[in-house]
Amino acid sequence: MQLVHDDYVQSRFSNTFPRTVEMVCPYCLKEAVFETGTWQEHGRQVAASELTCARCEGDVLFMQLLQADGTRKEGGLYCYPKSGGREAMPGIEYLSPLSAPLARSYDSALKLYNRAEWGAAALTVRHVIAGLANRMLGDDKRDMPLPRRLEALGQDVDLAKPLQDLAQLLSPGGTFGRQFEDEAAIDKVTAELMLELAEQLITYLVVLPGTMADLKARIATAPVPLRRGGSGVA
Ligand SMILES: [Zn+2]
Repeated sequence: MQLVHDDYVQSRFSNTFPRTVEMVCPYCLKEAVFETGTWQEHGRQVAASELTCARCEGDVLFMQLLQADGTRKEGGLYCYPKSGGREAMPGIEYLSPLSAPLARSYDSALKLYNRAEWGAAALTVRHVIAGLANRMLGDDKRDMPLPRRLEALGQDVDLAKPLQDLAQLLSPGGTFGRQFEDEAAIDKVTAELMLELAEQLITYLVVLPGTMADLKARIATAPVPLRRGGSGVA
């Protein structure tokens, strides 16, 4: 089951249930319009409908959560199988305050990818990587070639800062350090904040290097596409 955002719903019935939904089809992997037949209630909490892809006629099951009075629950539309498109990465909302143009470029890259425009999507992604490097680097390094700029990031960005912040919070005089003196007084909020802190640290120290190693392995074993119009010598 995947949440279907409200902005994918193109038109609605008079009872506000979705009539047509536009998203990337899980079968033909193209952006397509899905049309509803009828919505049927199952129990009191959910209504379901099969929507058909206008391109390939593949059927996708849509589920709509209901409120106690039987009306549509806002933000409660799900589909199975999930859309063939890519969603924005978690935490992407932090990119816009750093650079609104970069956030728009990332958004364009996703849209191009979801429209199966692979070349344009990859070029836009390269633009995002270059823009991010520029945003983080000093003026003197912005004219270097992209690989050199990426290498320079390690010196220009204070990668140790998250660790220093954590050390301070956990020190005997720090916000969390003080609370450990009386374990019984620790409440849900504190435990939750501690857990989030540990999760961020795991993301930073373990998940990021792990997923990067996985990605590098997948890049190394990905089939190399034949050049269009190449000699094709095997
Ligand atoms: Zn389709």
